[in-house]
Amino acid sequence: MLIVPEREIADLMTREAAFDAVEKVFAAMAAGDAYNFPVVREAIGHEDALYGFKGGFDRAGLTLGLKAGGYWPNNLEKRDLINHQSTVFLFDPDTGRAKAMVGGNLLTALRTAAASSVSIKHLARKDAKVIGMIGAGHQATFQLRAALEQRDFEKVIGWNYHPEMLPNIEKVAAEAGLPFEAVELDGMQEADVIISITSAFAPSLMADHVAPGTHVACMGTDTKGKQEVEADLLARAAVFTDEVAQSISIGEAQHAIEQGLIKEADIAQLGAVINGTHKGRTSDDQITLFDGTGVGLQDLAVAASVVDLAVQKGIAIEVDF
Ligand code: NAD
Repeated sequence: MLIVPEREIADLMTREAAFDAVEKVFAAMAAGDAYNFPVVREAIGHEDALYGFKGGFDRAGLTLGLKAGGYWPNNLEKRDLINHQSTVFLFDPDTGRAKAMVGGNLLTALRTAAASSVSIKHLARKDAKVIGMIGAGHQATFQLRAALEQRDFEKVIGWNYHPEMLPNIEKVAAEAGLPFEAVELDGMQEADVIISITSAFAPSLMADHVAPGTHVACMGTDTKGKQEVEADLLARAAVFTDEVAQSISIGEAQHAIEQGLIKEADIAQLGAVINGTHKGRTSDDQITLFDGTGVGLQDLAVAASVVDLAVQKGIAIEVDF
């Protein structure tokens, strides 16, 4: 069995490799070649932790396994460890033997950023110039860095519930040589692409804050009850997702579905657009919305990619298991 420790991931994994892995696995999911297993997520009654498993099998990429981990809210304060902790386990689909164990913390951030980037590549207008960020926490910086590679953006605007955190994303804009402006939510009207990545349980972005032609990537809502955007926005938009079953149960679409504003059949897989079986954006004034709920296959895809890179560079630790 091969081990790729968390400490090696930063030097091994690139944004390009994460993007390619996620784009391919979304395509495989839509083609019916890959599927996710039901998600297990439990409050374990210890350290206020949420722990669970996300797994799946990609017959096209021959990737089988799971990501185990979750959220330990006291880690940072008590132990100087990050609160999100996860590990990916890969298995040989021919034999069921354990194949690799891979640190999943940085990979989670990279694969989540890759997902919204893939949605921007396939759904945003080609002439998008202004990107708007809702959220300025840990994930937001990864999201913005990856998104900036998809279009010739000229300006970053941002809003955050905790405005004191906005310098986190201002720094990423500055690294890319772009101006940054903090705006009120109605200032998001200026954006051609909006990414929301918060832990909110009530909507911040309202339908009237979004101009025609905008692509919105909703990336924060991955649990029942969470919500970042007004449900009406989904009714106004062409809605895409990584996985429809998750979108309607734990994703942003859960609210629009509950309120009867859209139906399950109104939601398309982003992978179908990648494969060319769905036309994607149909006009320059259409609002497109990607409900990125985060699937296990994304984790497995980036982990398999990093194992290959670690083997190539002689960094993977081999253990007799
Ligand atoms: P973080 O704790 O670093 O940042 C949280 C962000 O949410 C901050 O910008 C904060 O100001 C904002 N926020 C907090 N309370 C809010 C409220 N009431 N209203 C509006 N905004 C509020 O977290 P993070 O690591 O950046 O993760 C952000 C979210 O992304 C989490 O909900 C996490 O579960 C989710 N996530 C999703 C995926 C996926 O694949 N879709 C992957 C990883 C994380």
